[in-house]
Amino acid sequence: MDAIAEKIAVLQGWVREASNGVAFTGAGISTESGIPDFRSPGGFWTRNQPIQFDDFVQSAEMRKEAWRRKFEIDATVAEARPNAGHNALAKLVAEERILAIITQNIDNLHQMSGVPVSKIIELHGNGGYAKCLSCGHRYELDWVRSNLDADGMPPDCGTCGGLIKSATISFGQPMPQEEMQRAHVATAGADLFLALGSSLVVRPAADFPILAKQNGARLVIVNREPTPLDAICDLVIHAEIESVMTPFLNCTHD
Ligand code: NAD
Repeated sequence: MDAIAEKIAVLQGWVREASNGVAFTGAGISTESGIPDFRSPGGFWTRNQPIQFDDFVQSAEMRKEAWRRKFEIDATVAEARPNAGHNALAKLVAEERILAIITQNIDNLHQMSGVPVSKIIELHGNGGYAKCLSCGHRYELDWVRSNLDADGMPPDCGTCGGLIKSATISFGQPMPQEEMQRAHVATAGADLFLALGSSLVVRPAADFPILAKQNGARLVIVNREPTPLDAICDLVIHAEIESVMTPFLNCTHD
């Protein structure tokens, strides 16, 4: 058995022992579904600097650029389907080994893999619709797309006149309180915390693995490259997520 296979076997044993498992996912779990992450070669950041929330609010040019990028990215996201990583997590949720998936992703692939919405905690919002920043009124993206003006800008909110923005959390934007609270509760009660495909540098999301470890959970990190939290985790597997998670699709954990 090679070193990676041995680590997968350890993880399978820990999953069997877990009764309050929590998964924590980042953009890396979706790269094998064809959605680029932020920091890998070819990722979004190799082409675009992120637009800060304050810049979105203050600058019409930035809003226009944000919407241009949004619709460009959506063409890729629309084609994406869950991969073995998402499907293995969905199976572990169905087996009640994993009780919650805290995700930084906005791509809806956990939902598409069959995980009930009540088990998914989206820390950075959802890219599948838009919201008014002032009153929270929901707008569907098809409506936004068909109401863009000649400059590529959506109208202001029909209810209150506020700015309409994709329902995702930008850098510098306040975190969603309810999701943060749910993530805290799930993390504090976790006996196994499995971080998959996150560089673990985006805060406050990256504080959750630390909190889990402090509360006595086994902390496992699966990522193709090192992360700043490798030193504190109980098991680190530097490999592609599909290769690590596929074995979980082929066995039961009851
Ligand atoms: P990140 O881009 O900072 O890190 C992704 C990590 O995953 C990297 O360390 C990379 O080496 C690793 N990785 C990539 N593909 C992998 C694979 N197949 N197997 C194993 N490891 C792999 O992403 P992050 O930590 O989630 O933080 C960036 C922010 O980007 C998040 O807030 C998220 O909201 C947003 N984002 C989301 C999506 C999405 O929804 N799919 C895509 C891009 C960015």
